[in-house]
Amino acid sequence: MLTNLQSLIPHLRPLISNPSSRVVILTGAGVSEESGIPTFRDAQTGLWAKYDPLELATPDAFARNPKLVWEWYEWRRALCRDAKPNPGHDALAAMEKFFARLVIVTQNIDGLHRVAGSRDVIELHGNLQRDKCSRENVMVERANACTTNDGLLVCPQCGAYLRPDVVWFGETLPRDALERAFREAMLCDALFSIGTSGLVEPAASLPRLAKQAGAFIVEINPAPTPISEIADAIVRGKAGQVLSELVRAMERLGS
Ligand code: NAD
Repeated sequence: MLTNLQSLIPHLRPLISNPSSRVVILTGAGVSEESGIPTFRDAQTGLWAKYDPLELATPDAFARNPKLVWEWYEWRRALCRDAKPNPGHDALAAMEKFFARLVIVTQNIDGLHRVAGSRDVIELHGNLQRDKCSRENVMVERANACTTNDGLLVCPQCGAYLRPDVVWFGETLPRDALERAFREAMLCDALFSIGTSGLVEPAASLPRLAKQAGAFIVEINPAPTPISEIADAIVRGKAGQVLSELVRAMERLGS
């Protein structure tokens, strides 16, 4: 087991500038923590500190109390809109130049990988900046929606509440995104698991699948996760710092 960045570099060397190299980067909430967006397992702040995100991000919670769930997402939406990519997002965008193919598979709904310039991003859990009809599952622009007396938005076609276009606990993932993510994991030479607790399925299965197919597995996370058990290399640290160092080390190899 490799446990520092320097020992990891020789394992990446054969993939750098290799015309057939394929790399998958699986990211989770930890990658956006340094942009000021709390992970689900961090204490939430301010007004929302008393709520457990794992109990708000569910279809049942929305059915029980749509206003509460909508307002929580409006708060998170504002946080994400104001957030900027951090050095971790920037480094991942920069890593594209070293590999023939680099795909980001993200559980994050904040859209920051694309803002940072990553070109191939699979959003497994949707995107917070979009809304959809909670009954018909079709996207609705806010400008076309109607507002209720209690400040919720409703679908102009059927009158059902709008909800964010994100995957809640207990819901199925968008099929195309999931199929592509599984295909990329099975075909890649290396998979990096970064800032994810490895507890949320089916994303948590991707590193295991890649490992079974022969990929080199790297974990970057300050804390151990179930993925640590199968990782070939583990770097304990924050994504921003570790990834910036990794890119600098790869640049030195290329020069
Ligand atoms: P999680 O909250 O379960 O776990 C976060 C992981 O990140 C932990 O393992 C933690 O040790 C690690 N971490 C914390 N700070 C880090 C840092 N600076 N650098 C690297 N790692 C760090 O998150 P998850 O595994 O993504 O799964 C939970 C669900 O939460 C997902 O469905 C995701 O959609 C959702 N979520 C998304 C966002 C976002 O879009 N930014 C934020 C919160 C939650």
